Amino acid sequence: MAQNSKIGWTDHTHNFWWGCHKVSEECRFCYIDGIMRRGGYEPFKGPMRTKNWDNPSRWQRQAERSGMRLRVFTCSMSDFFHPGADNWRDEAWRVIRDCDRLDWLILTKRPELIEDRLPQDWYDGYPNVWLGVTAGCRDSLGRIDILGDIPAAIRFISAEPLLEQLDLSSYLADIDWVITGCERAKKGKRRLMELDWVRDIDEQCLTAGVPHFFKQYYENDSGVPNEDGLVDGVRRQEWPQVTIGV
Ligand code: SF4
Repeated sequence: MAQNSKIGWTDHTHNFWWGCHKVSEECRFCYIDGIMRRGGYEPFKGPMRTKNWDNPSRWQRQAERSGMRLRVFTCSMSDFFHPGADNWRDEAWRVIRDCDRLDWLILTKRPELIEDRLPQDWYDGYPNVWLGVTAGCRDSLGRIDILGDIPAAIRFISAEPLLEQLDLSSYLADIDWVITGCERAKKGKRRLMELDWVRDIDEQCLTAGVPHFFKQYYENDSGVPNEDGLVDGVRRQEWPQVTIGV
């Protein structure tokens, strides 16, 4: 089945809107900058609604035919909970709820805005929505506490870009999945990640029994990131257990 994403942990990306504002250190070299400017758009003036809202129903039909579930990284070019998208979010939630063969991975750097922006029928969380926060540096760890208080089928942490050594161990009891990876940016610009930081998080995940997906790193600061997911020769690219039916 055709996939529209090169990101190792998802099948598709879908943007209900694109454009954003930077909120933390992980945003410094945000990749939407180059992509949107090349298309003639200003990336950091807030979200603009996109025109491709039909894609998810097409993927839903494909998933129904194949009997598979597909992962959809949601708002990879913005932030799903950005307040500038408040007028469109209810409609987006309806698409998400109706496309129930798709697992929607919603990753935010604004978890303090989630609670007031959940749909009325959220209850314990839509079974096909995974909620995650970015925590690539110590200043962002408080986001995980906020996430832990929000009901969700799956909660995850994305420690990408991983900017320093992190102790996640006290948070992992409420977490179903951890992603790690380096900053993907031009040589000379990107902040380098040490493999020891990944090794450390990997050990924390193993101890807590939490799946870990190691996405990418640059070998010897080379030009193309290595995506083999190897930590000391062992491939560490796991996903959380999905319990809803297929
Ligand atoms: S929240 Fe995400 S999309 Fe928005 S500026 Fe930060 S890194 Fe970019």
